[in-house]
Amino acid sequence: MHRDIDRVLISQYQIGARVRELAHQITAEHAQPGQETAEITIVPILTGAMIFCGDLIRQMPVKMRIGLITVSSYPGASLNTQGSQVLGQQLGDIKGRRVVLVDDILDSGGTIKLVAPGLKELGAASVKTCVLLRKDRPSAKQVHVDYVGFEIPDEFVVGYGLDYNNYYRNLPDIVTLKAQIYGGPH
Ligand code: 5GP
Ligand code: MG
Repeated sequence: MHRDIDRVLISQYQIGARVRELAHQITAEHAQPGQETAEITIVPILTGAMIFCGDLIRQMPVKMRIGLITVSSYPGASLNTQGSQVLGQQLGDIKGRRVVLVDDILDSGGTIKLVAPGLKELGAASVKTCVLLRKDRPSAKQVHVDYVGFEIPDEFVVGYGLDYNNYYRNLPDIVTLKAQIYGGPH
């Protein structure tokens, strides 16, 4: 697996430091006057946001529920969005709750635009959006997100939850893969 890596874009140490900052920022901005702790429903968009969200929430000392939503946009070995589609959800009751929607990467913006309004329609008191990565391309800049971990060049990346053909999610760093990996046998 490591032989397939071309470049490390963001190391696990850089990720760790930034995730801690994001966790503190989200916690602070959800503090409720008069209440000891904030209460949040965190919703990772599966599968890509799983690892990011797991690290993020363990640094948020708040009363929290977790909702799940699964969206497919880059099925199988695709390197471009095929249009986002909700495959399943297990949100619990989010009426009146302060929801933080978490995704791994903002690219075309289709996923966030598909999911965020739906959470509002289910009666969430507020819906904030958080992505670990935002690609440097116009479509990604046009979509509002509340919290961004890193701005990255418009390249296909894997690791720390992000996949190619459902592989490489367990790499600890954000990396690019060698060109021969794409389309080749695994
Ligand atoms: P969007 O809907 O904003 O185009 O893209 C969001 C989704 O597409 C992400 O949740 C992720 O699953 C996938 N995606 C977008 N860019 C990349 C990328 O560079 N690498 C990987 N592995 N997935 C990506
Ligand atoms: Mg994906």
